[in-house]
Amino acid sequence: MDEQNGQNLFATIKQHICTCSGNLMLSPNVEEVLKIPKRELHVSLPVRMDDGHIETFLGFRVQYNYALGPMKGGIRFHPDETIDTIRGLAALMTWKCALYNLPLGGAKGGVICNPKKMSMAELERLSRAYIVAIYEVIGPDRDIPAPDVYTNQQVMAWMMDEYAKIAGRASFGSITGKPLPLGGSEGRQEATALGGWYAVHAAAEKVEISVSGARVAVQGFGNVGYNAAKIGAETFGAKIVAVSDSKGGIFSEEGLDIPAVAAYKEKTGSVVGFPGAVPLSNTELLEQDVDILIPAALENAITIKNASSIRAKLVAEFANGPTSLEADPILFNRGVHVIPDFLCNAGGVIVSYYEMVQNSNLDHWDVEEVNNRLKKRVSETYRAVFDLAKNNRVDLRQAAYTIAATRVIAAMQLRGWI
Ligand code: NAD
Repeated sequence: MDEQNGQNLFATIKQHICTCSGNLMLSPNVEEVLKIPKRELHVSLPVRMDDGHIETFLGFRVQYNYALGPMKGGIRFHPDETIDTIRGLAALMTWKCALYNLPLGGAKGGVICNPKKMSMAELERLSRAYIVAIYEVIGPDRDIPAPDVYTNQQVMAWMMDEYAKIAGRASFGSITGKPLPLGGSEGRQEATALGGWYAVHAAAEKVEISVSGARVAVQGFGNVGYNAAKIGAETFGAKIVAVSDSKGGIFSEEGLDIPAVAAYKEKTGSVVGFPGAVPLSNTELLEQDVDILIPAALENAITIKNASSIRAKLVAEFANGPTSLEADPILFNRGVHVIPDFLCNAGGVIVSYYEMVQNSNLDHWDVEEVNNRLKKRVSETYRAVFDLAKNNRVDLRQAAYTIAATRVIAAMQLRGWI
């Protein structure tokens, strides 16, 4: 989907790996191993639509690296999905799990479809067909899918059920991001956004801004964006002055009433037109005069075209890949503090990992336990990345790459792969 916006996510990630490889003085052969996915599966999914005709959807599962453990990564349903976006996201999952010291590798999946134009019954048939097609390569000790863009708890419930039916046993640990009655974890729905705010909170101490009262713009109003806006206002005392979705954005100098905006979007399908707010384009939202900018939609929101116009002091990448390769140094040289995606948005996979631990122990933790563990892990990891970035005079993205790649390489060496 990123080709549409002019830059291929996987090409960007490979370039980041090249820079990291230079910093770590890796041999070209090792660099090559880090740049190629272990396995990718392309599947065709014939699905009977409600009017009786058969439509064939294309899907992917990319398993990037399993040196550190079974692979983990979400599933996207999107009309503009591409294999290169999925490869890039699978690579990011590898670095994310390694950076946070999770015993997991990285993977990602996707299906080219438009869920907004499908009925619930059609979505269920597609979700089940996808699991049937990738069944052989997934499982609790192989590769564990989770939700991502335009997939949700209900989709995960159908997928887990299909996996369990084929396996012939209850297999709650085969999928994470499930609803609570099916072994889901407390706090999973909000985990990506809450983890992002813990990272922002740790960063704010370093860049000397106050989170309480900070003016914030959030791009995207889905699972991550909505929760980012809600948690920012309710838990951290931030003032959310602008939000947007794929149809456009809205602005209010006094701060938006996020539950009211959510109720309005539920009714009308978009935040656009929210009474009392000023309409805003997605481009204008990114360039607002705010303290904190939270891109929480798709890739390539900040590019060479707008990087010089970003006025936020802190950019927190709640989305994956929102900053293009060329935009990164522009922001760095202008002193904008960027918390990179795989440091900032790991809350989802961290709590998915907690979900796996609870499932395998037939246990259920309360939300305080989940969130306390999440806060500690994110705050400590942010500080380690910040200190390394400062010592090495690099941006946080490269410091995070250094930590993550060092762990993946050590595991590959011990296993005798390199
Ligand atoms: P979602 O499907 O719930 O929401 C996506 C939102 O983005 C929607 O509000 C949509 O309208 C909006 N959007 C789409 N195109 C847009 C555009 N051009 N401009 C502005 N808004 C646009 O997806 P999500 O789960 O919230 O994921 C958002 C981002 O966070 C993605 O990059 C995803 O990979 C990343 N992420 C998600 C999770 C998770 O647990 N769900 C975890 C880590 C990272």
